[in-house]
Amino acid sequence: MPTIIPFRVCILLAFYFLLSCQEKHPPSKSTLPKEIVSQNPQKSKSQLLDSLFTTHKEYISFQFDFPVGKPTSKGYYNAQKFRENDHLGEDWNGVGGGNSDLGDPIYSISNGYVYSSKNIDGGWGNVIRIIHSYKNAYYESIYAHCDTIFIKEGQFIRRGEKIGTIGTANGTYLAHLHLEIRDSIFMNIGAGYSADSKGYINPTEFIKTH
Ligand SMILES: [Zn+2]
Repeated sequence: MPTIIPFRVCILLAFYFLLSCQEKHPPSKSTLPKEIVSQNPQKSKSQLLDSLFTTHKEYISFQFDFPVGKPTSKGYYNAQKFRENDHLGEDWNGVGGGNSDLGDPIYSISNGYVYSSKNIDGGWGNVIRIIHSYKNAYYESIYAHCDTIFIKEGQFIRRGEKIGTIGTANGTYLAHLHLEIRDSIFMNIGAGYSADSKGYINPTEFIKTH
Protein backbone atom coordinates (compact mmCIF):
# COMPACT_ATOMS: atom_id res chain seq x y z
CA MET A 1 0.00 0.00 0.00
CA PRO A 2 2.19 2.86 -1.23
CA THR A 3 -0.26 5.55 -0.03
CA ILE A 4 0.24 4.65 3.64
CA ILE A 5 3.77 6.06 3.94
CA PRO A 6 3.02 9.55 2.60
CA PHE A 7 -0.04 9.66 4.83
CA ARG A 8 2.08 8.83 7.88
CA VAL A 9 4.66 11.39 6.82
CA CYS A 10 1.90 13.98 6.55
CA ILE A 11 0.69 13.19 10.06
CA LEU A 12 4.26 13.44 11.39
CA LEU A 13 4.86 16.75 9.59
CA ALA A 14 1.59 18.15 10.95
CA PHE A 15 2.62 17.05 14.44
CA TYR A 16 6.05 18.71 14.20
CA PHE A 17 4.45 21.83 12.76
CA LEU A 18 2.09 22.04 15.73
CA LEU A 19 4.97 21.54 18.15
CA SER A 20 7.08 24.23 16.47
CA CYS A 21 4.20 26.73 16.78
CA GLN A 22 4.07 26.32 20.53
CA GLU A 23 5.86 28.70 22.83
CA LYS A 24 9.37 27.55 23.70
CA HIS A 25 10.49 28.77 27.07
CA PRO A 26 13.94 28.04 28.53
CA PRO A 27 14.41 27.86 32.30
CA SER A 28 15.22 31.11 34.09
CA LYS A 29 16.29 31.54 37.71
CA SER A 30 13.74 33.09 39.97
CA THR A 31 14.36 35.16 43.07
CA LEU A 32 13.46 38.40 44.85
CA PRO A 33 15.17 41.62 43.69
CA LYS A 34 18.92 41.63 44.48
CA GLU A 35 18.75 44.76 46.69
CA ILE A 36 16.08 43.20 48.93
CA VAL A 37 18.07 39.98 49.28
CA SER A 38 21.42 41.73 49.90
CA GLN A 39 19.92 44.01 52.58
CA ASN A 40 18.60 40.98 54.46
CA PRO A 41 21.16 38.20 53.95
CA GLN A 42 19.99 36.25 57.00
CA LYS A 43 16.38 35.90 55.84
CA SER A 44 14.92 33.25 53.55
CA LYS A 45 12.85 34.28 50.55
CA SER A 46 9.57 33.50 52.30
CA GLN A 47 10.66 35.34 55.47
CA LEU A 48 11.48 38.34 53.30
CA LEU A 49 8.06 38.21 51.68
CA ASP A 50 6.37 37.89 55.07
CA SER A 51 8.11 41.03 56.31
CA LEU A 52 7.42 42.92 53.06
CA PHE A 53 3.67 42.29 53.35
CA THR A 54 3.66 42.89 57.13
CA THR A 55 5.03 46.39 56.57
CA HIS A 56 2.76 46.98 53.53
CA LYS A 57 -0.55 45.53 54.71
CA GLU A 58 -2.49 47.74 52.29
CA TYR A 59 -1.17 45.58 49.44
CA ILE A 60 -2.58 42.31 50.77
CA SER A 61 -5.12 40.87 48.31
CA PHE A 62 -8.84 40.59 48.97
CA GLN A 63 -10.17 40.23 45.43
CA PHE A 64 -9.00 39.15 41.95
CA ASP A 65 -10.06 40.54 38.55
CA PHE A 66 -9.27 39.59 34.96
CA PRO A 67 -6.13 41.28 33.58
CA VAL A 68 -7.80 42.39 30.32
CA GLY A 69 -11.15 44.13 29.89
CA LYS A 70 -11.17 44.56 33.68
CA PRO A 71 -12.80 43.46 35.82
CA THR A 72 -14.73 40.86 33.77
CA SER A 73 -12.60 40.36 30.58
CA LYS A 74 -15.23 42.12 28.46
CA GLY A 75 -14.04 42.40 24.84
CA TYR A 76 -11.55 39.55 25.19
CA TYR A 77 -11.63 35.77 24.91
CA ASN A 78 -9.46 32.94 26.11
CA ALA A 79 -8.06 31.34 22.93
CA GLN A 80 -6.14 28.52 24.60
CA LYS A 81 -7.46 27.36 27.92
CA PHE A 82 -5.59 26.04 30.94
CA ARG A 83 -4.47 22.41 30.34
CA GLU A 84 -5.57 22.52 26.67
CA ASN A 85 -2.57 21.07 24.74
CA ASP A 86 -0.77 20.86 28.14
CA HIS A 87 -0.93 24.67 28.33
CA LEU A 88 0.01 25.94 31.80
CA GLY A 89 -1.74 29.27 31.37
CA GLU A 90 -4.40 31.02 29.32
CA ASP A 91 -4.01 33.01 26.09
CA TRP A 92 -6.11 36.17 26.19
CA ASN A 93 -6.99 37.84 22.88
CA GLY A 94 -9.17 40.76 21.83
CA VAL A 95 -12.41 39.77 20.11
CA GLY A 96 -11.22 41.75 17.04
CA GLY A 97 -8.73 38.95 16.29
CA GLY A 98 -5.23 39.15 14.75
CA ASN A 99 -3.12 41.95 16.17
CA SER A 100 -6.13 44.18 16.92
CA ASP A 101 -5.30 43.88 20.64
CA LEU A 102 -1.63 44.89 20.23
CA GLY A 103 -0.89 47.64 22.77
CA ASP A 104 -4.09 47.11 24.78
CA PRO A 105 -3.67 47.61 28.55
CA ILE A 106 -2.90 44.76 30.95
CA TYR A 107 -3.95 45.23 34.58
CA SER A 108 -2.72 43.58 37.74
CA ILE A 109 -5.27 40.94 38.77
CA SER A 110 -4.91 41.96 42.41
CA ASN A 111 -2.80 43.84 44.95
CA GLY A 112 0.71 42.47 45.17
CA TYR A 113 4.45 42.78 44.96
CA VAL A 114 6.32 42.88 41.63
CA TYR A 115 9.33 40.67 42.06
CA SER A 116 10.31 40.37 38.43
CA SER A 117 9.68 42.57 35.40
CA LYS A 118 11.99 42.02 32.43
CA ASN A 119 12.61 40.56 28.99
CA ILE A 120 13.22 36.82 28.98
CA ASP A 121 14.62 35.17 25.86
CA GLY A 122 13.23 32.16 24.11
CA GLY A 123 9.65 33.03 23.27
CA TRP A 124 8.67 34.69 26.55
CA GLY A 125 9.37 38.32 25.66
CA ASN A 126 8.64 40.87 28.40
CA VAL A 127 7.36 39.10 31.49
CA ILE A 128 5.87 40.51 34.70
CA ARG A 129 5.72 38.31 37.83
CA ILE A 130 3.62 39.50 40.77
CA ILE A 131 3.28 37.83 44.17
CA HIS A 132 -0.08 38.10 45.93
CA SER A 133 -0.62 37.59 49.64
CA TYR A 134 -4.14 36.25 50.09
CA LYS A 135 -5.59 34.66 53.24
CA ASN A 136 -2.16 33.76 54.63
CA ALA A 137 -1.08 32.04 51.39
CA TYR A 138 1.00 33.27 48.47
CA TYR A 139 0.02 33.17 44.81
CA GLU A 140 1.89 34.35 41.76
CA SER A 141 0.48 35.86 38.57
CA ILE A 142 2.55 35.94 35.40
CA TYR A 143 1.89 38.18 32.38
CA ALA A 144 3.94 37.23 29.31
CA HIS A 145 4.74 38.48 25.77
CA CYS A 146 4.09 42.12 26.84
CA ASP A 147 4.73 44.89 24.32
CA THR A 148 5.47 47.46 27.03
CA ILE A 149 6.09 47.15 30.76
CA PHE A 150 5.17 50.07 33.04
CA ILE A 151 6.35 48.72 36.39
CA LYS A 152 9.66 47.86 38.03
CA GLU A 153 10.67 44.92 40.15
CA GLY A 154 10.56 45.63 43.86
CA GLN A 155 7.44 47.81 43.73
CA PHE A 156 4.03 47.20 45.25
CA ILE A 157 0.96 47.33 43.06
CA ARG A 158 -2.80 47.78 43.38
CA ARG A 159 -5.50 45.58 41.86
CA GLY A 160 -6.51 46.99 38.48
CA GLU A 161 -3.36 49.09 38.05
CA LYS A 162 -2.06 49.23 34.48
CA ILE A 163 1.18 47.22 34.41
CA GLY A 164 1.88 46.79 30.69
CA THR A 165 0.41 46.27 27.24
CA ILE A 166 -0.41 43.21 25.13
CA GLY A 167 2.39 42.24 22.77
CA THR A 168 3.81 39.68 20.39
CA ALA A 169 6.99 38.64 22.28
CA ASN A 170 9.05 40.63 19.76
CA GLY A 171 7.10 39.36 16.76
CA THR A 172 7.07 35.70 17.78
CA TYR A 173 3.25 35.37 17.91
CA LEU A 174 0.10 37.23 17.03
CA ALA A 175 -0.49 39.60 19.94
CA HIS A 176 -1.96 37.96 23.04
CA LEU A 177 -1.49 37.86 26.80
CA HIS A 178 -0.20 34.56 28.21
CA LEU A 179 -1.48 34.57 31.80
CA GLU A 180 -0.42 32.07 34.46
CA ILE A 181 -1.48 31.80 38.08
CA ARG A 182 0.59 29.63 40.39
CA ASP A 183 0.00 28.50 43.95
CA SER A 184 3.68 27.66 44.25
CA ILE A 185 5.77 30.82 44.06
CA PHE A 186 9.40 31.29 42.93
CA MET A 187 9.34 28.34 40.52
CA ASN A 188 11.42 28.75 37.38
CA ILE A 189 9.61 30.45 34.54
CA GLY A 190 9.20 27.01 32.98
CA ALA A 191 8.14 26.09 29.46
CA GLY A 192 4.57 27.37 29.30
CA TYR A 193 3.49 23.83 28.40
CA SER A 194 3.79 20.61 30.38
CA ALA A 195 1.77 17.52 31.21
CA ASP A 196 2.81 18.18 34.83
CA SER A 197 0.74 21.12 36.11
CA LYS A 198 1.84 20.91 39.75
CA GLY A 199 2.09 24.46 41.15
CA TYR A 200 -0.14 25.93 38.43
CA ILE A 201 -3.83 26.71 38.82
CA ASN A 202 -6.68 27.47 36.41
CA PRO A 203 -6.63 31.29 36.08
CA THR A 204 -10.26 31.80 35.04
CA GLU A 205 -11.55 29.46 37.72
CA PHE A 206 -9.41 31.16 40.38
CA ILE A 207 -10.32 34.73 39.35
CA LYS A 208 -14.05 33.91 39.19
CA THR A 209 -14.07 32.33 42.64
CA HIS A 210 -11.82 34.92 44.33
ZN1 LIG B 1 0.19 30.69 26.21
